[in-house]
Amino acid sequence: MIALGIHGGCGVMARTELSDAQWAAARADLIEALRAGWRVLQTGGSAVAAVEAAVVVMEESPHFNAGYGAALNIDGVAALDASIMDGASLGAGAVSAVSRARNPVKLARALMEGKGTVMLTGPAADAYAEAHGLEVVAPSFFVTDRQRQALVRMKHLERTGTPATEGEKHGTVGAVALDRDGHLAAATSTGGYTNKPAGRVGDTPIIGAGTYARDGTCAVSGTGAGEYFIRHVVGHEIASRMAYLGEDLATAAHKVVMEDLHRHGIGAGIVAIDGQGRLVVPYNTDGMYRGWVTTEGVVHVATHDKVFVVETL
Ligand code: ASP
Repeated sequence: MIALGIHGGCGVMARTELSDAQWAAARADLIEALRAGWRVLQTGGSAVAAVEAAVVVMEESPHFNAGYGAALNIDGVAALDASIMDGASLGAGAVSAVSRARNPVKLARALMEGKGTVMLTGPAADAYAEAHGLEVVAPSFFVTDRQRQALVRMKHLERTGTPATEGEKHGTVGAVALDRDGHLAAATSTGGYTNKPAGRVGDTPIIGAGTYARDGTCAVSGTGAGEYFIRHVVGHEIASRMAYLGEDLATAAHKVVMEDLHRHGIGAGIVAIDGQGRLVVPYNTDGMYRGWVTTEGVVHVATHDKVFVVETL
């Protein structure tokens, strides 16, 4: 049995602001990400390889806040965070404040498969990418006009004391998978949020918070106000509720996202999968870019309430 789920961030624009053209373009990339991950699983590849493949497609897409087109920090730099976790071995790799590795999730995986270091940050992480033959680019590669404008707008909102909308605050991409051998994996990649402080690290590269996977229990990838994901240790908390309280994934995920995180009045969402390939995608915002392929190969994508059934792979 194989299964795959992805998210493209819980900061989708308000329904009224998301044009058909924008949604169609983002949806096409979500579908591409699902196809890429599914191809790996269907040909007997690992859950780790599948989540990496799906996340790479979304990092390359300008529609999501990760890799190319990621949110810019206060200095106008795309400072990227990513991580990956293998539920079979509890092996993990995480990078933060990357600005040259083209695909931070590939770097996280290379680190996971390296000599034992779990986390690297900043220039050292980029240097690791270079030393291990991964593609590196100029920091300007990641910067799109859309994100440049978003930064200008966010600085303006800050100056005038106007609160930003959820859509302006959030974005991140992530994937969870179950492979043929029954192994789980999760991966997450992000630019954080627009106008974030220099050096700020979110939940995405914090194993147990924004990313977590443990065979037989669950794999989780989160999106939303990262500081709260760190404080609630969201991925590990969901796995622990399942392991210690005997809750099923849907109950544990609902409790953490819709009660614990929601209580702070912050936007949050996750994609998570259990050892039987059951997927859940709870979010407490207006919408969340998300998609999944059921164990029967049926592809679904959505932003708001309406779920599109796309094809059977
Ligand atoms: N969780 C990400 C972070 O805090 C951002 C997001 O998903 O909106 O860096």
